[in-house]
Amino acid sequence: MPLYRDQAIVLRTQKLGEADRIVTLFTRSLGKVRVVGKGVRRTKSRFGARLEPGMMVDVQCYEGRNLDTVTQAETLAPYGDAIARDYTAYTAASAMLETCDRLTEEREPALQQYLLLAGALRSLAERSHDPALVLDAYLLRALAIAGWAPSFHDCARCGAEGPHRAFNLASGGSVCPMCRPPGSAAPAPETLELLAALLAGDWVVADGSDPRHRREGSGLTSAYLQWHLERGIRSLRLVDRETRVDTRRSDSPAVELGGHADRPSTTPVAPAQTGHRA
Ligand SMILES: [Zn+2]
Repeated sequence: MPLYRDQAIVLRTQKLGEADRIVTLFTRSLGKVRVVGKGVRRTKSRFGARLEPGMMVDVQCYEGRNLDTVTQAETLAPYGDAIARDYTAYTAASAMLETCDRLTEEREPALQQYLLLAGALRSLAERSHDPALVLDAYLLRALAIAGWAPSFHDCARCGAEGPHRAFNLASGGSVCPMCRPPGSAAPAPETLELLAALLAGDWVVADGSDPRHRREGSGLTSAYLQWHLERGIRSLRLVDRETRVDTRRSDSPAVELGGHADRPSTTPVAPAQTGHRA
């Protein structure tokens, strides 16, 4: 039987029968594959714990008629363990894994997405930055790789040089006064600078940002992601973040940022939690 070996990140698992699991792996060279882990739910399973979401493994599988089966799994980086100890990091990782699952197709190699996810998980595990910033950087860059790079400086419609005050999801980001559709938001200029820094990987700017702008940036990032995916990312509901952008400075306070006339409303993400507001 044909065998193959690859590095992979475990995206999710589902129960199968009494003791097995279907494991969705995001592999470095093959892209996303769904494989069967036989007996992995038994407590004495040799590699059950290695096939948990967020783990990076070296796997060997053999090709089956329908689903391939894992025959070996060695831990390359126990990010899952390190991340699970911190709830904020855990919810951020869950949202990243689900987003990756949604943005990739089975058996379509996607090396850039793989490297991005691996780097973001490592960053969460090593506590390099605020987990909320790591999540937003991941989401913006994953969307950019998927072909939906938002603009945070020049006008997303006509290219007029920024910075511009208005931000419009449907238009793809910042919009100039000439192009600005009704109902565009007007986030703080510092928020757009932060998002541009996250997209570019400028951590000096991102780490030095104000919590207020981080919250507003998370709201814009969530809304932008939701707008591009037909259904909401369920895990984002667990992440403590501002999901409604402050519209008090907006041209049209009644308009919610996520709304768009041409599209039915996307699944709402979590109501803004009040506990962490200053
Ligand atoms: Zn314009």
